[in-house]
Amino acid sequence: MRFYRATAFLFPRSYERRVMFFCFAAVHVPLVACIAFQAFTGEWQVTTLLTLLLATLVGTGLGLAAIHALLAPIGEATAMLSAIQNGERIVTVPQGGDDLVGRLLRGVTTTANETAARMEQLVDAAERDLLTGIRNRRGFLDSAEQVLRSRSNAVLGIIDIDHFKLINDEFGHDAGDAILQALAQKIENHLRRSDIAARWGGEEFAVLLPRTTLEEARLVMERLRAAVALDTRLGIAGRAVTFSCGLAPVRTFAQLGDATRQADAALYSAKNAGRNRVHVRGL
Ligand code: GH3
Ligand code: MG
Ligand code: MG
Repeated sequence: MRFYRATAFLFPRSYERRVMFFCFAAVHVPLVACIAFQAFTGEWQVTTLLTLLLATLVGTGLGLAAIHALLAPIGEATAMLSAIQNGERIVTVPQGGDDLVGRLLRGVTTTANETAARMEQLVDAAERDLLTGIRNRRGFLDSAEQVLRSRSNAVLGIIDIDHFKLINDEFGHDAGDAILQALAQKIENHLRRSDIAARWGGEEFAVLLPRTTLEEARLVMERLRAAVALDTRLGIAGRAVTFSCGLAPVRTFAQLGDATRQADAALYSAKNAGRNRVHVRGL
């Protein structure tokens, strides 16, 4: 490290040029020594000098090319580490042999894999609801943004469990939690793979059904509503657990706020109409 630091002034921003400088200097030692010797003795042997000069030129070219090629993997590894720091994903890292460069490249591979796995865990933890294991509101918005990136016919649904406060009061918070977990699974199992479900907060869930008309969405949610109301395992002490749902169309991510207000209004109307029903915006 001492030599490395002491020679940093040569090319402060290029390690490769510094190595090449020493290679260049070392290759020229015999030529310089020969010229110095012949100057000292005063006997100039031009053929020897020319041969040595030619050999030095060829040696310099080969030496610099070899060093440039040998240092390339280090440059690549450094670039990949910078990419990892910038949050980019490294797909393939070149393989090295059982030497210093090989160990460096294996180190980059390990770092790339571990960083990617940790990032995925962090994003997943930030976007998942701890109690139910499905997406939380943040995860919902993230997925919705992707689905609604290209203008599409989608429907937003807000689901709210009926009289959930009474369930908590009567059977305890843990029983309430178990119902939230079971309902979350039921909602996810009921939907298509392309649909998005999330815990919106408290005892409310949100769903986004891409490429779906309002009428199709109403039928899907109506089937889910009936299945939940009839599910004796979800019910408690012989009493059914039911939910109300409000639906509204949404075409772009920018419209999601408006669609949420409309779905909320439809949910409010479903509650007022007696609960355990699905209402569509404006109906
Ligand atoms: P409504 O039919 O009008 O929706 O009545 P509700 O009782 O379901 O609505 P309200 O908003 O009065 O009560 C919601 C309840 O949900 C109150 C709150 O304690 C409960 N709750 C919210 N989050 C959780 C949770 O994580 N676990 C449990 N067990 N209960 C929760
Ligand atoms: Mg509520
Ligand atoms: Mg409720």
